[in-house]
Amino acid sequence: AITQNLTEALGNMARGKLSESNIRDGMAQVRHALLEADVNYDVAKDFCDRVTEEAVGEQVLKSLKPGEQIVGIVYRELVNLMGPVDHSIELRRGEMTVLMMCGLQGSGKTTTCGKLAKMLKEEGAKPMLVAADLQRPAAIEQLKVIGEQIGVPVYAEPADRSSPVKVCQNGRKEANRQGCNILILDTAGRLHVDDALMKELIEIDNRLMPHQALLVCDAMTGQDAVNSAKSFNEALELDGVILTKLDGDTRGGAALSVKAVTGVPIKYIGVGEQLDRLEQFHPDRMAQRILGQGDVATLLETATRVLDEDEMARQQQKMLEGKFSLDDFLKAIDQMKKMGPMKSLMKLIPGMGQIAGAMDELGDMDPDKDVKRLRAMIQSMTLDERQNPDRIDRSRRNRIAQGSGTDPAEVNDLLKQFKGMSGMMQKMAGLSATDRFREVQK
Ligand code: GDP
Repeated sequence: AITQNLTEALGNMARGKLSESNIRDGMAQVRHALLEADVNYDVAKDFCDRVTEEAVGEQVLKSLKPGEQIVGIVYRELVNLMGPVDHSIELRRGEMTVLMMCGLQGSGKTTTCGKLAKMLKEEGAKPMLVAADLQRPAAIEQLKVIGEQIGVPVYAEPADRSSPVKVCQNGRKEANRQGCNILILDTAGRLHVDDALMKELIEIDNRLMPHQALLVCDAMTGQDAVNSAKSFNEALELDGVILTKLDGDTRGGAALSVKAVTGVPIKYIGVGEQLDRLEQFHPDRMAQRILGQGDVATLLETATRVLDEDEMARQQQKMLEGKFSLDDFLKAIDQMKKMGPMKSLMKLIPGMGQIAGAMDELGDMDPDKDVKRLRAMIQSMTLDERQNPDRIDRSRRNRIAQGSGTDPAEVNDLLKQFKGMSGMMQKMAGLSATDRFREVQK
């Protein structure tokens, strides 16, 4: 919604003949869009004041395309609002790097500890997780399960016979013994910021002297997330925030306000429940997404990370030869699915942000559900039919519809679409990968 409202406000400015009063009206609309997205009031006001001041400058008004210039200013200021960010986590030879993870209950702290451990492990580090959340009864067990899934050791002690500081200290010893080089402390959370919680965290902070203290915040809670970041930072001096659940229907306000309100940058974002859904936070990419210009960099990164290159090459070859079948189509869909939910992928494609947003409002248009129907239809075909869809006549079509719980018209649509797509794919297969992405951008 923020993308839609912002692009509308900016679009209005770009269309009309620009004058100082137009710009002020337009920026009032921008401010409204920001507030609606749950951006902190002062942040929204300062932001718009800054953009207005720059935009009413003579050079902008006299320039050839003042509308575009203003979008440029908004983009730059959005990037400044959220950055700069230093993602580095220093590893020193012979020294244990200690990361202290904090957050309120339900923020996604334990899950994020696992995600971070997985990411660091994939980068060649040897992490160990420490179950120092003795507050939430299930947290220890949950961390052990996560550790198992990602193949990272977890240090834990029985909650009733230990203390958080003791667990952390013993965890460090065990990590040294096992030759690990990063210790990730999953500390206690509570429902609200309170003195007892802060006291416990400050004690861990003093005794363990972590290299970084990272706060996990739930983006869905908007301003509450920002306020809790403020309180945590006053007690602990945070090095960074990890904003979770940015995949959901968040209004985006937290992402825009955290740095401006607390001075602490967002370093990572959680974009799904699975343990590989953690990304570095890039203010420029976020600004592009917010302005509905998509995020091709992230799309490409995800693609190279999760897609099976051999399989892609095989499919490309088949397309070139015009042998791409419905079976391959299914495989291609499965590959796409590995990259995440369709809706969130579509938001990364330039120009699609607004459409995906509009789709949220329509509600019944769910690309993932459509994919399920597609799969059901293809799976109800015989192998021969999948290779030679031309052979599918009326009676076969009825059978497929019945087998997949769809109706014949839908099967017909699929076949038509597939035919059209094969033609297009053959054309696209001839282009190089980067050209193909350019094609998508148009
Ligand atoms: P904790 O109490 O802070 O340790 O929270 P948990 O790690 O148990 O997470 C709470 C819930 O949030 C769980 O259901 C997680 O799967 C979910 N969660 C965590 N991170 C994300 C995220 O980035 N996206 C989504 N959609 N869910 C998340």
